[in-house]
Amino acid sequence: MGRQSIHIFLDDIRAASARIAGRVLKTPMVQSPVLSQLAGVPVYLKLEHHQTTGSFKLRGATNAVLSLSPQERARGVVAASTGNHGRALAHAAKAEGALATICMSRLVPDNKVSEIRRLGADVRIVGRSQDEAQEEVDRLVAAKGMAMVPPFDHPAVIAGQGTLGLEIMEQLPEAGTVLVPLSGGGLAAGVAAAVKGLRPKTKVIGLTMERGAAMKASLDAGRPVQVEELPSLADSLGGGIGLDNRLTFAMCRDLLDEVVLLSEEEIAGGMRHAYAVEREIVEGAAAVGMAALLFDRIRLPGPVVVILSGRNVDMELHRRIINGAVSLTTEEAA
Ligand SMILES: *Cc1c(COP(=O)(O)O)cnc(C)c1O
Repeated sequence: MGRQSIHIFLDDIRAASARIAGRVLKTPMVQSPVLSQLAGVPVYLKLEHHQTTGSFKLRGATNAVLSLSPQERARGVVAASTGNHGRALAHAAKAEGALATICMSRLVPDNKVSEIRRLGADVRIVGRSQDEAQEEVDRLVAAKGMAMVPPFDHPAVIAGQGTLGLEIMEQLPEAGTVLVPLSGGGLAAGVAAAVKGLRPKTKVIGLTMERGAAMKASLDAGRPVQVEELPSLADSLGGGIGLDNRLTFAMCRDLLDEVVLLSEEEIAGGMRHAYAVEREIVEGAAAVGMAALLFDRIRLPGPVVVILSGRNVDMELHRRIINGAVSLTTEEAA
């Protein structure tokens, strides 16, 4: 254990589970006959991409909103995420009658802006970068007393994501391995805390893309480091972990058994497998576990649970991937 690492524990996750009950879906877990045969052990898919708003992020966002005092909630919540966290926070706030303000740069595409507006958030377009959007968040926190809900490095967010781990162990108490998509590490930290809290010998493996894997680079360096951001099919896994990371770095360091990196080709293969064989539409970030099994990147004790974390993929991009492309643009794919 490092100096003063703060962890979230099973009790926090149980409390989160009671708090958010009825506000998030219990998602199904189904066996994959094809992946089971391939891996030689039973493989189950946790269909969390069917969660309301299309990703697990609703769990953490809902727990964070419900953890605020009535006074804090009345002043509203704020974040700078344009992706799944922004959607989840917009939905979670609206469900409790609170206002979410989502700050984003002018470069964010219109469809993302209108999607977050549709979910009831107040969208503020500021500047030309994520950093400038974050400055606006800081300003609103200081000037209006809004509560910032960050996408991963926050106790209530981690505990909320951990409820997915609790649910997995309820559905499959004998799980030998859980495969978790990994970016900032809120999901991996929460799920690992729940799974290891209930069954310490179950392996929890983080999976992420080769291109710009900030948590992996940080774990290797022994401290949070910055990596160059590169476009990836797994866009929800992009971004840094924060040089001032408080929780998820230490938790991932202490609780994950391993981190496996996947290439763009492997991630595309995972998306194709999901669609053609499992009949599921998933985004790149959610395909990493299936990719690791398909390309024989890990051999671990079964039964194996693969978390499908989200489905918010541009459908035009999805169509191209299904038709054989492996990269983000038609030019590159040609
Ligand atoms: C955010 C996200 C992840 C990664 O979660 P972290 O808590 O940042 O590690 C994985 N998959 C999807 C679909 C996501 O939206």
